[in-house]
Amino acid sequence: MEVTILGSGSPLAQTSRGGQSIVVTVDDEPLLFDCGPMSVERLLDNEFKLRNVTNLFLTHHHMDHNASFFHFAILSWMYGRRDLTVYGPDGTDALIDALGDIYEADIGYREKFGRPVEGISEIGFSTISADSRVSTDDWTVSTHSVDHSIETYAYRIENADGSTVVYAPDTSKIGSLSDFAADADVLIHDAAVGPEREPTDANTTADTESWKQFQATNPKPEDTPIVDVHTSAREAAEIADAANVGTLVLTHFLPFRDTAAMRSTATDVFSGTVRIAEDGLTVSA
Ligand SMILES: [Zn+2]
Ligand SMILES: [Zn+2]
Repeated sequence: MEVTILGSGSPLAQTSRGGQSIVVTVDDEPLLFDCGPMSVERLLDNEFKLRNVTNLFLTHHHMDHNASFFHFAILSWMYGRRDLTVYGPDGTDALIDALGDIYEADIGYREKFGRPVEGISEIGFSTISADSRVSTDDWTVSTHSVDHSIETYAYRIENADGSTVVYAPDTSKIGSLSDFAADADVLIHDAAVGPEREPTDANTTADTESWKQFQATNPKPEDTPIVDVHTSAREAAEIADAANVGTLVLTHFLPFRDTAAMRSTATDVFSGTVRIAEDGLTVSA
C-alpha cells in the first residue's frame, strides 16, 4: 500500500497546505480519506484519476475535512466516475442530500453533456459508528471512536498481505488508539498542537495573510479549546511508541508551526521513523 498526503493543514487556509485529506492506494485502487479544502487540486497534483475514486471515508464533519466534497463529487462525475460510496458519521446522508438539493439544476445542466446522471444522483452512503468494518477481497477498513469536539472516527486500513495504515485524525491523546494502531506500518496522527516559528520562503502571501487575520480576530491557539481536542507531537509519538508502529506521520498543521522542533520532540519518545506531513508526501506501507 502507499499513503499519499493530499492535505496536511487545518481550518486556517493556507495555499502551502490543503485541508485534511489522504489517499491510501491498495493495489491500484485509491481509497480517499477526508475531503478538506483543495482535495481535488491535490488529487490532480498527485496524478490520481478522479474517476477511479469510488470510496470516500469521512472522519468527521468539520469543514477542514469535508469542504471539498461537493467539488469532488461533481468534478469526479464530470471526469467519468460512475460509482461512489461515502462512509462517515451521522450527518453524512445530509451532506449527500444537500448535494442533490443545492446542485439539482447544476447537475441537470451537466447531464446534457451526455453523462449518465446515476453517477451523481445515486451516491451511496453508509453511516459508521464505533467498530464499523467494511471489507472487499483486497482491503478491510475498520473504525475506532476518538475524542474530539464532535463525533469523530479513526480508520485502520489493512490489505490482503496484512500491511496496515492507521489514520487518526483530530483527537486528544487517547490510550485506546495505541491498541487500535497496534503494529501498523504507518500511523498518520494529528499533531495540531505545536510551537510557532517565523515564516519561511515556503509560506505564500495567502498563508501570511491568513495567519495575520486569524491572529487579529482570535485568541492564541494555545489559549483555546484547540489544545483540548487535538494532540501534540509528543503525545502522538507516545501513542506510536505504545502501538509499536513503523512510521509516524505528523499532520494537521496550523500556519507557521515549528515542525523541526515537533519532529525532534517526537523522536525523543518514539524510536521508529517520524515524518512531517507535507502535501504530496508519499509513504509506503
Ligand atoms: Zn476537527
Ligand atoms: Zn481538523
